[in-house]
Amino acid sequence: MKRKELETKDLMVKKARNGFGIFSKKDFKIGKNVFEIKGSRITGDIDEDIDDTTRANAYRFDRDFYISPDGSMGDFLNHSCKPNVKIMKEKGKLFVITISDITSGSELAFDYSTIVASDDIWEMKCNCGEKDCRGVIKRFKSLPKKLKEFYISEKIVPKHILNI
Ligand SMILES: [Zn+2]
Repeated sequence: MKRKELETKDLMVKKARNGFGIFSKKDFKIGKNVFEIKGSRITGDIDEDIDDTTRANAYRFDRDFYISPDGSMGDFLNHSCKPNVKIMKEKGKLFVITISDITSGSELAFDYSTIVASDDIWEMKCNCGEKDCRGVIKRFKSLPKKLKEFYISEKIVPKHILNI
C-alpha cells in the first residue's frame, strides 16, 4: 500500500522527525478513538520466517501473537517519550486512543514501551527530541517507577502487557 493511499479524512502519513509519521488533519479531544491497528497475526517465534522490520513494527496482541500492520496505517505510528496517544485492546481489536487534546497538524505518537512485555527482547535508541527523552526504549517493566505507576493509573498501558 502506498502512503498516499493511507490518507483518510482525519489522518495522513508524511515525513516526520523520524522517518514517516501519522499526522492529524483535524482536532481530536482527549479519549477519542483515532483508528484501529489492522494487520495479520504473527507469532514471536524466532524460527518463524519474519524479517526484522516486520518484527519491530508489530504490536503485541496477547501472550502468543502480535499484529503486523503489513504496510497499513499502524506501520507509521512513531514513538515519543511524551506521547499523545495510547494503544488499547477492546473486543479483540487494537485501537489508537488520544491521551491529550490534539490539534490539527500534530504528529500522533505513543510510548512504544507500553506494548513491550517482559518476555520481549527488543530495544531501540530514541530520537524523539522531548526534554525528558529516555534515550533507550525498552520493555514496560524497565520504565522508571514513577512513569510506570502513572501509565498504569492512567490506563495508558494495555492490561495484557502487564499480565505477560
Ligand atoms: Zn525519546
